[in-house]
Amino acid sequence: MKLISIVVPAYNEEANIMSMYEKLVQELHLLPYRYEIMFINDGSSDGTLQEILKLAERHPDVKYISLTRNFGKESAILAGLHRIQGDAAILMDSDLQHPPELIGQLIEGFEEGFHQVVAKRSRTGDSKFRSFLSSFYYKIVNAVTDVDFVDGEGDFRLLSRKAINSILQLSESNRFSKGLYSWIGLSKKIISYENVQRAKGTSKWSFWSLVNYGIDGIISFNLKPLRVCFYTGFLVLFLSLVYIGVTFYEILKEGVGAPGYFTTITAILFLGGIQLISLGVIGEYVGRIYNETKRRPNFLIDISNADDYDES
Ligand code: UDP
Ligand code: MG
Repeated sequence: MKLISIVVPAYNEEANIMSMYEKLVQELHLLPYRYEIMFINDGSSDGTLQEILKLAERHPDVKYISLTRNFGKESAILAGLHRIQGDAAILMDSDLQHPPELIGQLIEGFEEGFHQVVAKRSRTGDSKFRSFLSSFYYKIVNAVTDVDFVDGEGDFRLLSRKAINSILQLSESNRFSKGLYSWIGLSKKIISYENVQRAKGTSKWSFWSLVNYGIDGIISFNLKPLRVCFYTGFLVLFLSLVYIGVTFYEILKEGVGAPGYFTTITAILFLGGIQLISLGVIGEYVGRIYNETKRRPNFLIDISNADDYDES
């Protein structure tokens, strides 16, 4: 019988762990598969770890990894992927926003031979403003990057063993998982579901963390922003040359007129702005290079009851 691994990152989710487990088991029992449920405690400061340990004590199908501190969801999932033994993995949030009822459909897609089965959510319940911002963002990102990002396709997905191993091969430390899933390619099936509100606790996303995540998405997957700087530089240089030419011609014709304070200051501010933006973009890339060269691991494990994946 095939083994299905459920990977659940949890950061301060003490109120959700138990009900998440119960719901999962309810669904998994209906299916003709062996299963393991891998909880990753991402440095929670509440009782999340205790809840997970309680479960693991009672149920041998519960595996856990507890990280030494909060490394972020992407790293938590990566840690989980390293230590599951399944023929397929299903990645799910611990706040019940990813309905366990869909597990059957995800596995169906897997049995049809798809390497990635993605549960795509609608945006019902999100504020109009947020939906507008996201769809606008995805338009821009897809225009400037080389990989495909789709609105509503998040981490809730099934990965075949081949897809898991492909993801594990990507060792970069700036992990923008949406991009990574798209980058590895492989066949993909999409199923849809209605957006669900989180069960208990609060979302870990603030407005600014979303903005930063958005910037990550653009920078992680291409060098085009650098090229935009390059072209803008050229355009500005060209415009200044025209301006200099015209002014010089006027000086030749009419002599030096009133000192052009306005034009000077405009030019300085304009160029200054462009230069700062360009420096910022270059800085983003340099910062990433710096991070990658340190070759630090993406996460550190404190305690766990699971071993690394065993090929044999
Ligand atoms: N999460 C995590 N580490 C973090 C932040 C979040 O493991 O640093 C987990 C969290 O416990 C949840 C999932 O990632 O299971 C999604 O988080 P959240 O519900 O806050 O995000 P949202 O659903 O609002 O996008
Ligand atoms: Mg959530």
